[in-house]
Amino acid sequence: MKVLKFGGTSVGSVENMSNVKNIINDGEKKVVVLSAMSGTTNMLVSISNDIAGHEVDGAIEKIKALHETYFSTIDKLLTNANLNKKVKDYVSEIFNFLVECAYKDFSEHLENNIVAQGELLSTYMFNSYLQQEGINSSLLPALKFMRIDAEKEPDIDYIKRNFEVTINTFEDSEIYITQGFICLDDDGEVSNLQRGGSDYTATIIGAAIKADEVQIWTDIDGMHNNDPRYVENTKPISNLSFDEAAELAYFGAKILHPQTVTPVRADNIPVRLKNTMNPSAHGTLISSVTSENGIKAIAAKDNITAIKIKSARMLQAHGFLKKVFEIFETYKTPIDMITTSEVAVSLTIDDDKHLSKIVEELDQIATIEIDKNQSIICLVGHSVVNHQDTCKLFQILQDVKIRMISYGGSKNNISLLVDTKDKVTSLQKLNDYLFELVTL
Ligand code: ADP
Ligand code: ASP
Ligand code: MG
Repeated sequence: MKVLKFGGTSVGSVENMSNVKNIINDGEKKVVVLSAMSGTTNMLVSISNDIAGHEVDGAIEKIKALHETYFSTIDKLLTNANLNKKVKDYVSEIFNFLVECAYKDFSEHLENNIVAQGELLSTYMFNSYLQQEGINSSLLPALKFMRIDAEKEPDIDYIKRNFEVTINTFEDSEIYITQGFICLDDDGEVSNLQRGGSDYTATIIGAAIKADEVQIWTDIDGMHNNDPRYVENTKPISNLSFDEAAELAYFGAKILHPQTVTPVRADNIPVRLKNTMNPSAHGTLISSVTSENGIKAIAAKDNITAIKIKSARMLQAHGFLKKVFEIFETYKTPIDMITTSEVAVSLTIDDDKHLSKIVEELDQIATIEIDKNQSIICLVGHSVVNHQDTCKLFQILQDVKIRMISYGGSKNNISLLVDTKDKVTSLQKLNDYLFELVTL
């Protein structure tokens, strides 16, 4: 069985939902994971922020406006009067719940419950639409099987067991619709897999059922060789290895949630990226096959903080780095890049929630300098470190101040740290000289 995931734009309008219906209605049994309609999760986050800031009126206004938008979409989508009413009743229950939330005290638990509503809305509406169109589908509630553990990792054994139980209650369905993104945490409370998490839901289910393939359907024809939001003339890449895709996703290629390939790579389950608006385009196939050497794609990750830790004691002292790492470990803060010299070590983090505490502890053993608003530019491909183009990098970026370089950590990745204000120029220059064959 295949798992197909459709993102926010793919379910964001009646026309696109009709495209999705045509793509999935091919007579094959499948699991279909849906995101919230585009814009909904952002709006729910904004409502939640209003509640956190005691802006109850602002929250209520947004809830009412969103409620109306949903009603007008339902009127276009569901011409069957019974289904139209049934879905409006369900949707109103959700919006009434959101109004109740607006008067409650803010907590993380409340926020998680608010942002979970987007996927509940889209899946209920879409499943009803399939029923109207005479398609044999059923709705599998993700909260019955999707769960993360205390480390926020998917609890695969639990998911496997409970997915099986849930799907078996709907044995004769052809299409199983379920919510992306949402899950329970280790206390059984509503939680989520972080923004963009529906991709991750799809591969977690793919691994749990040993799917033949996972397909991520979105609004672009596969992984491009650079970020199309900032760079002109980007092109789709037809094949990527799991390693290459994992690096790109982790280092900012928004088309994939950072963890997307993790659940499926061990079982060698291919992941195909496809365009809902142009289904005949090849897209990108992610598999264990590695193709030609060299720089294949570039991605960038923003909101990076660089920390320089300088200490005379580092000189010939073993155990210094251990102490440094232990401090980051205490605050569960992952380090992305690291470079060292004789007297200093520079490293980067993207989660600065505990930065002040970390700096306080580092201050006891070293002198600390912090640079905020940094971006990691990541060059990815097979054997990039040995490739002839690699030596051109310094020349291409001669006008850009490169703060750190990570080379040789893996054969698939070279990372550069630049000030975020230099990001777009750097991406465009790298694109022109590496992929557009402009000569230096
Ligand atoms: P969905 O809602 O379907 O999950 P996303 O917005 O999360 O879609 O991801 C698709 C978007 O990712 C594209 O529209 C594109 O702007 C952006 N993107 C960023 N980097 C890349 C890349 N390297 N290749 C393709 N798309 C990218
Ligand atoms: N709806 C969620 C978000 O906007 C999850 C997803 O779209 O993948 O982040
Ligand atoms: Mg996404």
